[in-house]
Amino acid sequence: MNAEIIAVGSELLLGQITNTNAKFISNQLSELGINVYYHTVVGDNAQRLKSAIQMAESRADLIIFSGGLGPTKDDLTKETIASHLGLPLTFDDTALSYIEEFFAKIGKPMTENNRKQALILDGSEVLANHHGMAPGMLLEKNKHTYILLPGPPKELEPMFQYEAKPKLIARLNTESVIISHVLRFYGIGEAELEHTIQHILDSQTNPTIAPLASDGEVTLRITAKSNNEQVAWDLIKSKEAEILSIVGEFHYGNNDDSLASKLVEMLLHNKLTISAAESLTAGLFQSELAEISGVSGTLVGGVVTYTEDAKINQLGIEKTLLDQYGVVSQQCAAEMAVKVREKFGTDIGVGLTGAAGPEPHDGQPAGTIWIGFSIKGFEPITRQLKLSGMRNTNRLRAVKLAFSYLMR
Ligand code: ATP
Ligand code: MG
Repeated sequence: MNAEIIAVGSELLLGQITNTNAKFISNQLSELGINVYYHTVVGDNAQRLKSAIQMAESRADLIIFSGGLGPTKDDLTKETIASHLGLPLTFDDTALSYIEEFFAKIGKPMTENNRKQALILDGSEVLANHHGMAPGMLLEKNKHTYILLPGPPKELEPMFQYEAKPKLIARLNTESVIISHVLRFYGIGEAELEHTIQHILDSQTNPTIAPLASDGEVTLRITAKSNNEQVAWDLIKSKEAEILSIVGEFHYGNNDDSLASKLVEMLLHNKLTISAAESLTAGLFQSELAEISGVSGTLVGGVVTYTEDAKINQLGIEKTLLDQYGVVSQQCAAEMAVKVREKFGTDIGVGLTGAAGPEPHDGQPAGTIWIGFSIKGFEPITRQLKLSGMRNTNRLRAVKLAFSYLMR
């Protein structure tokens, strides 16, 4: 089954509101393993809406409408579909009962105009609106499924989730089990990941694979459908194995995992303690770790040494080293890692220093970051990053990269 979302509303075209409904519905459909091929936006104009419907019918099985279900003159989604499909609008008692229920809830009398909202496309199923007046509809005709949802997100979202989605799942009939599994990657860009597994993405049917990138991370959502749960899991597991055989080195976790949660899990499992000396991240490394419950079993403490003096006075780094190499340097990062590890008596010490931006710092261009890792009994290791984001993106990226290096 593939879908198209038609968002109706001139405000969308005028740039007054963002089409968050399409985003929401797409997200929901991807969880069901339904491919969305097009998002269409059309103004409150019957003729243009009609041609949008015709276009959608030529390329989608499922067409979901957002908006234009209200009682005012510019709300014409229902009327336009009725005329396009040659269907009458008929008065529906269930729809009326929902509207009466809504007025009872807000304690206002119902007007005659509102009764008109109980007119539905003949033959459609009513989708209850518990947060507003306009009922939604689901209609099947000429091999197409049409779903009409009201524009306000606080009405549309629950209506989709609790009214439309169960009916859609039932229509995916024999394939009644739908399982989603998310693989999480770090240290590889979305484009590179997609390019590397392009042949897998190109041949996907069941399971489907949906890539998504945010905050420097890339996820792949694998969704399988079957009439048997075990079969669906097997489909997912074999696709997962195929993907990880190619890009496994960047895979750090699944579903609700985060880099911090996986790192804490790894450190606790290996009974390792950690401390950090932070310059540009000013505590963010420790703060991100502290979001994970149980972290006290591994995070001992750390220092924020933002200035050169702090690095000298709090950590005991030699002034001559800083004079010679600067604070944004491999030597400084390594020394911060060693000194903080010694100061807190931990197994691992991490040092983060760099130019967060937007200005260069200590003669180094914005985005130049050095991370040092000191492990008891070994020479310190360093990594250099050259990031191009905004200041706070760079700071968070440095922390996440430090987490991912620690897990390697
Ligand atoms: P109402 O009965 O409130 O008029 P409606 O179904 O007729 O609902 P519209 O009139 O098209 O819907 O839109 C009502 C409001 O819903 C808009 O002013 C806007 O705030 C919000 N809205 C409409 N479409 C979208 C969309 N695609 N994404 C996010 N918000 C939307
Ligand atoms: Mg309206």
